Amino acid sequence: MLIAITGTPGVGKSTVSKFLFEKLKSSGKDIACINITEVVSKEGLYLEKDIEMDSYVVDFDKLNEYIQSVGTKDILLDGHVSHYLNPDYIIVLRANPLLIKNRLESRNYNSEKLNENVEAELLDVCLVESIERNDESMIFEIECSEKDPEKIVNEILMFLDSKNPEYGNVSWLEDYFYLIE
Ligand code: ADP
Ligand code: MG
Repeated sequence: MLIAITGTPGVGKSTVSKFLFEKLKSSGKDIACINITEVVSKEGLYLEKDIEMDSYVVDFDKLNEYIQSVGTKDILLDGHVSHYLNPDYIIVLRANPLLIKNRLESRNYNSEKLNENVEAELLDVCLVESIERNDESMIFEIECSEKDPEKIVNEILMFLDSKNPEYGNVSWLEDYFYLIE
């Protein structure tokens, strides 16, 4: 089973993935957790480097091969392109665009990259892409702004157990449209 943890950079994917991984592992699951950004750069799973955006253009064939070589029964895919990897379930993490902005500023993102990502959160990009490419019954969207990772993970576990999809309840545009440059 492939579980994608997706969402705008800074939303908390790696934090939540780590917690979820530890919890599932300690309950006896044969599971791995892949940080996509890390393996793409370390294992050379990219087509080219986008210097301007300071990011890699992912080679999805190579990335899929890598995922298939991992060999555990379940895999958590931590990354903002994880919903492109034919997962069984997609968890879309959401957070207030101002929170995303603050977090990315403290990561020293350049202004172009910062604006692109704040705008992506405002316009529901990861959710829309997930819905476009996958069966909607596998999607669970969760607003994380004021939840600690433990609570977020518990809600994800409840979804994986009940398999009741949920999305469409997060809407930032009305309050934060002014953030679009
Ligand atoms: P992503 O992997 O989506 O880019 P990270 O997991 O690296 O995001 O989180 C970005 C920052 O936000 C980190 O400093 C992390 O400690 C913090 N963070 C993430 N999730 C939460 C949360 N639920 N509550 C408080 N801080 C969080
Ligand atoms: Mg991360």
